[in-house]
Amino acid sequence: MPLHAAEALILRTYKLGEADRIVVFLTADRGKRRGVAKGARKPKSRFAGGLEPLTRGRVEYFERERRELVRLRYAEPICSPLLCRDASALAHAGYFAELIDEWSPEADPSDALFRLGAAAVEALAAGGPVERLARYFEYWLLRLQGVYPPLDRCGNCGGGLEAGARLSPGAGLLACPACEPAGAGAPLSGAAIAFLRAARSAAPGALEEIALEDRAGRELAAAHRLLIRTHLEKDLKSLRVVREMAGDSG
Ligand SMILES: [Zn+2]
Repeated sequence: MPLHAAEALILRTYKLGEADRIVVFLTADRGKRRGVAKGARKPKSRFAGGLEPLTRGRVEYFERERRELVRLRYAEPICSPLLCRDASALAHAGYFAELIDEWSPEADPSDALFRLGAAAVEALAAGGPVERLARYFEYWLLRLQGVYPPLDRCGNCGGGLEAGARLSPGAGLLACPACEPAGAGAPLSGAAIAFLRAARSAAPGALEEIALEDRAGRELAAAHRLLIRTHLEKDLKSLRVVREMAGDSG
């Protein structure tokens, strides 16, 4: 049984048997893994405090031949969402972890996705602005997946988007007010677009310096929800088809 040591982000856990947990975690070098944490639900477990979703930590695990589940030896937190000062930040840690879980295929390493999650938990633990971080995180996650439409110009006529745009997830583009005066998709004001443009070159720890007024924040939240729903449904369907074709009904 080869032993691997890695930096990892905990994505989710669920109960197994009387005292154990199954842990889904994203490693920096080998992508997403699932493992058994023996005795993780016992009071004095060596996993105590290390398995909260979005915890960044060091893990050691054994790969088992022809077994999908690895065995976790330990998980030691480096940065934990339990350091968050309020419930909203902690809840967002769970949201970010779930998004990463949904968007990261098994055993397909993405250094960029790992670094995004690691930077997000650090910003949350440091008390950064939660809503701005959430919009930033969604933007970068979707951008890394190649589903965020280009921000520079209208996807239809090539005109500027300074006056705002409408996001059309089906067409995968942002359209200017002249091309898309109203109707389908989510509206984004010039202020919302400006936030995204600033987010392109900012670190998650520097979001204090980027303004996001409430209205623009709500627009971005709605637009991102629409994009995520549209694309995850599509992805999950194709994943199911791929698994069925591979004869894997689990
Ligand atoms: Zn246009």
